[in-house]
Formats: sequence, C-alpha cells, structure tokens
Amino acid sequence: MDSETPVAGIELGGTKAIAVRGRGMTVTEMRSFPTTTPDETLGAVLDVLAEWNAQEALAAIGIASFGPIRVARDAADFGSILATPKAGWANTPIHAPVAARFDCPIGFDTDVNAAALAEHAIGAAQGCSNTIYITIGTGLGAGILLDGVPVHGLLHPEAGHVRTRRAVGDGFEGVCPFHGDCAEGLLSGPALLARLPKHPGELEPDDPAWGPVGRDLAELLAQLILTFSPQRIVIGGGVTNRQPHLLDKARSHIPEILAGYLTDIDAVRLADMIRPPKLGDEAGPAGALALALAAVAENR
Ligand code: ZN
Repeated sequence: MDSETPVAGIELGGTKAIAVRGRGMTVTEMRSFPTTTPDETLGAVLDVLAEWNAQEALAAIGIASFGPIRVARDAADFGSILATPKAGWANTPIHAPVAARFDCPIGFDTDVNAAALAEHAIGAAQGCSNTIYITIGTGLGAGILLDGVPVHGLLHPEAGHVRTRRAVGDGFEGVCPFHGDCAEGLLSGPALLARLPKHPGELEPDDPAWGPVGRDLAELLAQLILTFSPQRIVIGGGVTNRQPHLLDKARSHIPEILAGYLTDIDAVRLADMIRPPKLGDEAGPAGALALALAAVAENR
C-alpha cells in the first residue's frame, strides 16, 4: 500500500456526512456536513471532493455508508441505500452520483466494515485476520472481516439485530422498531435512555442498574466469538466511549456464558481480544480511505 497515494473518502452517517482527504491511510483533511436530503448532503460533499481533485488528481474514492446498502456489484441497485427509517434516504443511489462526477476507482461498503478495515490496517486490530468492529451509538452496527476481507453475501452482516438470551428477571422490552429486544434494541443509546433509572451519564459505573446491560453486551460478544472466531473485537461509538466500564462488565460475563467450552478464552485473553478503537472517532473517515485504497488495488 502506497502511503503517498492521494485518496478521498465519504463517511455517510445518519446525522452527519464527512468528506475526508488522505495520503494512503493518513487523514490530512476533513469537512463535515449535516445529513439532510440526499441531494443537498451528497452535493456538498462531492463539491469538496471536486475541489480536492482539481488540486491533485485523486487515485480513488471510498464510500463508507450507513446501511442497509447493496454491496453486490452485479446487482441492479448496487451502490444504493436500501430500506431505511431515515426519511428521504430509502432506495437512494450513493455510488452512482459519485461515479458520474469522478473518473477513478470507487470503493463502497458499510461504515462498520470500513471502520473494521481501518482498525485492521493501522489501528487496534493489526495482524488479526478475523476482526469485528462494533459501534454502539444511536444504533448498533457490526463490521466483520474474515481473512482481512469484509464479509459480503446475501447483503452484509447485520449482527446488531440478532437476539440473544436475556438475563433472568430482566423484563425490558427493548426499543428496536423491528425486533424489540435485539442487541440494538437493548444496547443502543436510545435503549439505555429507556431502560436505566437515570441518564446514563449520571449513573455511577458501579450502579447495579448497569448489570443487565453488561450481561446483554456479553451475550452478543459470546455469539460473535462462537460464530466468527475473531482474534479481535473493537468496540467504538458514543455509548462505550462514554461508558468504558461496559467493556469490563461484558468481558466478566463471557466465560460463564461460554460455560467452559472454549477453554483458552480466559480473562487475559478477553482483555486482549476486546478493545476500544485505537483510531477513536477517526476510524470511520480512515475506513473510507481504506475503501479507496482497496479500490485502487482492485482497480474497480
Ligand atoms: Zn433489531
């Protein structure tokens, strides 16, 4: 990977869109815009990319988008956002308007697959062939790399919506509009506001009300460990950034959930496996650059 390659990326989120410019994986400039309508938001971001491209031709552009999105290149609606509750964005082409303005390779993937690539390339998951990146904020998303490559298939992983076993006596119904008590419905920022007795920021880390939350996160992580055999799980996003004790609580429950089955999963191994992002808030923008560099390598 050429560390001097001029590339750019778009991190498209539900509340803001970021235009990022870089050399290789190094972020050199970022510009942020509120996510309003597709025309307005994409228009503003693409104008910035055009300005950068005029200064120095971009070798590629990476698009890291909120989902669900069509990542299969042979699909008629490749490059589009699919059904989303975000008003005005359902069935919206994202790749096509970028390709119409820029004659260079363009990468396209989920924001969490992109962040997983960035943490794998230069962050907390270097050297880990199987990497999972989880973000817990307004929603809960998971990007998954197997042998260093983002998982695509029928669509892409949507592990935030799996349902896990609930702690005995915990009757919280969950807030996911589709499933109620799926992982997102139990662990997202809105879920914590609904299930905790106080605002999460005002609740002491040792308050017993955190107990079921840590347990629910541990259930999700145990299922992902059993299914994908990751060497590293990186957990970012507003919820755990503000409540880092949740990672400790989740780690502490995993051995009892695995019930002695994976004998080399002990406290030391879990402390190594489950980590915060090394790139912090730059994981998303750096992920868009990683998609651009992958597009250069694949010339697509
Ligand atoms: Zn759900």
